[in-house]
Amino acid sequence: GADLAAADRDIFDRIGLELNRQQNQIELIASENIVSRAVLEAQGSILTNKYAEGYPGKRYYGGCEYVDEIETIAIKRAKALFGAGFANVQPHSGSQANQSVFMSLLQPGDTFLGMDLAAGGHLTHGSPANQSGKWFKPVSYTVRQQDQLIDYDAVEEVAKAHKPKLIIAGGSAYSRQIDFARFRQIADAVGAYLMVDMAHFAGLVAGGVFPSPIPHAHVVTTTTHKTLRGPRGGMVLTNDEAIIKKVNSAVFPGLQGGPLEHVIAAKAVAFGEALQPSFKAYAQQVIDNAKALAEALQTQGVNIVSGGTDSHLMLVDLRPKGVTGRDAEHSLERAHMTCNKNGVPFDTAPFTVTSGIRLGTPAGTTRGFGTAEFTRVGQLIGEVVNGLAANGPDGNAEVEARVREEVLALTARFPIYN
Ligand code: PLP
Repeated sequence: GADLAAADRDIFDRIGLELNRQQNQIELIASENIVSRAVLEAQGSILTNKYAEGYPGKRYYGGCEYVDEIETIAIKRAKALFGAGFANVQPHSGSQANQSVFMSLLQPGDTFLGMDLAAGGHLTHGSPANQSGKWFKPVSYTVRQQDQLIDYDAVEEVAKAHKPKLIIAGGSAYSRQIDFARFRQIADAVGAYLMVDMAHFAGLVAGGVFPSPIPHAHVVTTTTHKTLRGPRGGMVLTNDEAIIKKVNSAVFPGLQGGPLEHVIAAKAVAFGEALQPSFKAYAQQVIDNAKALAEALQTQGVNIVSGGTDSHLMLVDLRPKGVTGRDAEHSLERAHMTCNKNGVPFDTAPFTVTSGIRLGTPAGTTRGFGTAEFTRVGQLIGEVVNGLAANGPDGNAEVEARVREEVLALTARFPIYN
């Protein structure tokens, strides 16, 4: 048959435009990255044709000999990468990985404890809009008002008061290291399971530059597409054989049907890349860059939540400038820097407006930015935010245009997919 360009201009042209957008803007969304051509090729392969319900060696379809090998390689690499005894690489997303743990360890109506969304937790950790919040009874912990760090004594207090069956550590907007041993101690004290959702920092754990939750948690969930730099997808890891058995049943047939073997192949490729020594250097550079970006932003007169970062991300509190997250996101986008508005802890602005933006360095680091580039990015963000502070919600078009020119020069110096 015809290739995409000949078969479907509607989609082909828009993929081209999106490629152009990715090439010519600085990606600062903390949960995004830029995958290798090898990952793209595996995900875009003929493996998409294959049904393989079940697990390697135990499928409900014929013709699975090669996908069995591929999935087995993915599992083996995942276990080696994280030092885990067992892995399920089938969850279609991070959310489904989390659902599979809920289905394995909880009954509907059971109480669990997670980080409050407003403090940096994820929707799947008990938001009232999410299944986790609708079908289970979430209680939450937040961060301390004065330093925006997790208050472990307060976590213990809530845990003792509510006796959750499951405790979740990890989130989407918490920039600091998490004391997993302390979380486990709290879980043990109340007889709860500890689940760590390492979706955001999995690549930093894989690179050995961030504490690993594997030795402490009963079960660890992750996405594969953030710092880990693989295809969009999820995964569950554990050292507990009884738990992996439950998780395997929860993923299939509990929640999903046929696994996405093309995505699993791409996961295997990404895990192979993360096992290389160069990935350690990448992960360290991601953190060095985040520190450089945070420092540059602080000199621009905005606050960094908790005063800095230990990881790939930071929350920028724009209140000192009187600028909203929504306006900053839009103005930065016009200057070709992509990020997302994000509530800061104890934010009083509506969630469609917010007082902050969340920034991350994984994608910029992949395209080759070092601390010098991220320091400059911090200054450029400062200029855009100052334009908003001086000119109001529509920003300063002249500043945006000037910054955009410099961003285009930077992205041209560090090309992707060229
Ligand atoms: N868990 C955390 C901590 C996340 O940040 C995310 C993604 O934003 C998820 C789970 C969900 O992943 P997905 O978007 O693949 O469902």
